[in-house]
Amino acid sequence: MATASFDSAPGASRALPAIEKAPEVTALSTLPGRKASLVGLTREGLKQALIGIGVPERETRMRVSQVWHWIYVRGAREFSEMTNVGKGLKAQLADHFTLERPEVVTEQVSRDGTRKWLLRMAPTGAHDHNRGAEIECVYIPGDDRGTLCVSSQVGCTLTCSFCHTGTQRLVRNLSTAEIVSQLVVARDALGDFTGQMPGKDGGEAGRLVTNIVFMGMGEPLYNLDAVIDAIAVMSDQEGLALSRRRITVSTSGVVPQIERLGLEANAMLAISLHAVRDDLRDELVPLNRKYPIAQLLDACRTYPGLSNARRITFEYVMLKGVNDSDADARALVRLLKGIPAKINLIPFNPWPGSKYECSDWERIERFSEIVFTAGYASPVRTPRGRDILAACGQLKSETEKLRARARMMLEEGMGAEAVYADQVD
Ligand code: SAH
Ligand code: SF4
Repeated sequence: MATASFDSAPGASRALPAIEKAPEVTALSTLPGRKASLVGLTREGLKQALIGIGVPERETRMRVSQVWHWIYVRGAREFSEMTNVGKGLKAQLADHFTLERPEVVTEQVSRDGTRKWLLRMAPTGAHDHNRGAEIECVYIPGDDRGTLCVSSQVGCTLTCSFCHTGTQRLVRNLSTAEIVSQLVVARDALGDFTGQMPGKDGGEAGRLVTNIVFMGMGEPLYNLDAVIDAIAVMSDQEGLALSRRRITVSTSGVVPQIERLGLEANAMLAISLHAVRDDLRDELVPLNRKYPIAQLLDACRTYPGLSNARRITFEYVMLKGVNDSDADARALVRLLKGIPAKINLIPFNPWPGSKYECSDWERIERFSEIVFTAGYASPVRTPRGRDILAACGQLKSETEKLRARARMMLEEGMGAEAVYADQVD
C-alpha cells in the first residue's frame, strides 16, 4: 500500500504539520550474493523458493508442508534438523537458503517479565547503508496471555505530534517475512516452539505468545499487503497457529483500507482516536485532515465481522490539558454510541523534545470513571517494563498514588494485557 506522498492536502497552508513526511521505500528482499532466509515466507513464497531450486512441481505440496512444519512448529534453525526431508533436498536447501532470523542486537528483560528486543533486519541496500534497518519488538506477559507488539514499518511516514516514531527519518515497509520473523524471534527467545519446552504440542495450549498487536513502529494500513500475508502466516493452524481473534491491528485511521483489513485479514481493529474534535485531531493525528472523524467512525460501523464479541478498540492517549477534560470524556462516549467498542486510555509516554505532558493520574481516573459509568470497559494502559522502556514521566511515584478503582483494575489484570489485547472473551 505504498500510498505515501508529500502532503498536498488543502489544510497544508495552515501552520499544521505535514500529513506525511517522506515517501516510503520498499526494500529488495535480499542483496545479490546473499542467501535468502526461508523464515517468514508465506506458503506460496516457500513453494516458489522450492520450485526455484528444482523441486518438481508434483512434489511441492508435500515438501512445502514438511519444511513449513520445521520452520513454524519446531522452530528449526538448521536444515539438518529436518529429519523427514531427504538428504539430497536438505543439502540443496542449505546450498541456496538459510534459516536465519533478524539479528537480536539487544534484549532487555524487565523485572515484570516484559522483554524488549532491538532487531536488525538483513541489509537491503544503499538506503539502509547496507547495515540493516533496526526495529523494536516487545513481549508483555500477562496472567492468561502473552502479547507480542510488532512493527510493520521502519519508522513511519505519518507525523502524529505526540509520537516519537513519527520523527524517525528512515522509513521503509517491512516485508511479510520481516514481520513474521518478529514472532519467530520471540518464540526462539522464550523457548516457545514445540519441543523446546515440555508439554508444547504445537497447539495454542501452553504457548507464551498468544496475542499479537500491530502497535510497534509504523502504520500497518500503509503496508497492508505485507500485513495481510503476515497475519495469514501467523494464524496458519499448521504453523505458528495464533487465532485471528487474538491479532489486533492498530491504525491512525487510513479509512480506505479499513474494510480490506477486515475482509482479507479478519483481524481485530484498533483505532488511534486520541481526540473527539476534528480541529484537535488534525493537530495530533494529521491524517485526520484527509480522513476526518465522521468518515473514520463510518468505516468502523461497517467493519466486517464487528459484533459485541468482536469490538473495536479505541486508543486514547492522555495528554495533560489537551484532550483530557470531563467534557472530552463525555463527548467520547457520545461519539462512539452504537459502535461495539472498548476504550483504552494510554498514559502519554514522553520522549526527548516532545511538547506534551502526561495527564495527572487523578485526571486519568476521572476520565476513565466517566467512560466506565457510560458502560465501557476503560482500562488504563499500565506502562509495563518501565525499568527497560521509557515510560510515562514520574511513573513509579504516580502509580503509587493510584486510587482504589484504578488499583482494582490493575489487580484484576485489566492493565496492559487487557489494553493490548482483551478481545478474547
Ligand atoms: N501507527 C499505528 C500503530 C502504531 S502506534 C497507530 O498509530 O495506530 C501504537 C499506539 O501507540 C497508537 O495508538 C499511538 O497513537 C500510540 N502512541 C504513539 N506515541 C505515543 C506516546 N508517546 N505515548 C503514548 N502512546 C503513544
Ligand atoms: Fe505513525 Fe502511529 Fe506514530 Fe502516528 S502514532 S506517527 S501513525 S506510528
